[in-house]
Amino acid sequence: MAPHSGISLHGKIKPKALFKLRYQTAKKFQIPCPSNIALLNTYQKLIKAKKIKPNAFLEKQLRTRPIRNLSGVAVIAVLTKPHPCPGNCLFCPTQKNIPKSYLKNEPAVMRAVLNNFDPYRQVKHRIKALHLNGHNTEKIELIIIGGTFSALSKSYQTRFIKRCLDAMNNKTAKNLEEAKKLNERASNRCVGITIETRPDWIDLKEIKNLRRLGVTRVELGVQSIDNKILDYNCRNHTVEDTIKATQLLKDAGFKICYHLMLNLPRSNPEKDFLTFKTVFTDPRFQPDQIKLYPCVVVKESNLYKFWREGKYHSYSQKETTELIVKIKKIVPSYMRIVRLIRDIPTTEIESGNMVSNLRQLLKEQGVKCQCTRCREAREKTINPKDLVYSKIEYPTLGGKEMFLQYTSKDKQTLFAFLRLRLPVWKNSEFLKSLKGMALLRELHTYGQLASIGKSAKYTQHQGLGKKLLIKAEKISRENNYSKMAVIAGIGVREYYRRLGYKEMNDNEYLVKNI
Ligand SMILES: [Zn+2]
Repeated sequence: MAPHSGISLHGKIKPKALFKLRYQTAKKFQIPCPSNIALLNTYQKLIKAKKIKPNAFLEKQLRTRPIRNLSGVAVIAVLTKPHPCPGNCLFCPTQKNIPKSYLKNEPAVMRAVLNNFDPYRQVKHRIKALHLNGHNTEKIELIIIGGTFSALSKSYQTRFIKRCLDAMNNKTAKNLEEAKKLNERASNRCVGITIETRPDWIDLKEIKNLRRLGVTRVELGVQSIDNKILDYNCRNHTVEDTIKATQLLKDAGFKICYHLMLNLPRSNPEKDFLTFKTVFTDPRFQPDQIKLYPCVVVKESNLYKFWREGKYHSYSQKETTELIVKIKKIVPSYMRIVRLIRDIPTTEIESGNMVSNLRQLLKEQGVKCQCTRCREAREKTINPKDLVYSKIEYPTLGGKEMFLQYTSKDKQTLFAFLRLRLPVWKNSEFLKSLKGMALLRELHTYGQLASIGKSAKYTQHQGLGKKLLIKAEKISRENNYSKMAVIAGIGVREYYRRLGYKEMNDNEYLVKNI
């Protein structure tokens, strides 16, 4: 691919043409066909050596899995060490030395085991792998998995997150506070931290703890909203716990993802559908995201015995597909279906859903899902004059939620959105410092990952985020809020400071007089 090869790198090359060119070049020079990664490495070396000029289009083509970066953020999932889970769920696999509910040959788990669950090494490993694949890691969403995070000791939680940040910062800080501070201007900025926990572990104390750690999103193991089903599956929490946790988290500005299961023992397709209908419309629920996965029978779970004894049946493939199609048809456009099928290798599944390409299947059937994931812009670009602004308002327990968005005219392509909460703060002494403030829970723009601080050609940083923020401030003012608080991830604090937001006394939210 060097300039002297006589093949011009300028102009646009379609993926197919690039493939052909690669093949022909390999044939001409009698060498094996080079991989995209190898080409990208050489390309970057040549740019560094100033032998060729950057070509954004070619670079994009050479990224093997561009989709991972298209929402603008590189995702890094790390696992906490195996620890006793407070639950004893019927369907949950338990393997030796693996955190409960996870299986040893899931990709993230394999990585964690390889690194002995060391947070620093897991993050370093992943950053390196992302770079090798040609991905940018300037913005990282850290996802901490491995079961109920809240059940781990406070000192382990603190050390774990500190070490993750150390790895991003390339520097060992004295303590968590220093690691957070360093990360605000690091080259790998942590723009959000997600943990997973059970609804019955969320109270005011835990929320303060999560904020101290820099957590911005909580995945709740809701599984079902039927107390009888929860009870039968030994979940040891109730739907009331879910309702309470949902409100508390929203009132503190967190983004919430529900984990929901289909085909749980004692449920059926009708009941499951009703669950989703309720979760999507009832003001007591309404999470921002959902992860839904059909219950599957794996050998290391108690459910395996039930299934062997004929006390449990998996839905047929047809039933599962039909159910998911029905759910996708009614998902509100402000919600995100994070994933459909759990990443369990099919070899581990004794009974249950084995279609791992369900999303593709739905697409083929022409089912249009309105969720934010299905609508996000990805590689699409748009002429600014064709952008349309709209606002969706929906009631939730404890306050009004607003979803502001920039889309294409038909609203099928999403370029940016913002989640604004106007809390009631009626009967609660809850998080006193936030009283009287509107809450900015999420601001997201889509498009190719644009470098922080550089001018961008793509969707990101075209000022759509800022435009939405101004609209949200105006709406809040009109609703008699004099301040706006934002639950800013560590790595986006600088962004908000530039827009006039300042630290409060407790340091965990950024606030602006509006
Ligand atoms: Zn969707």
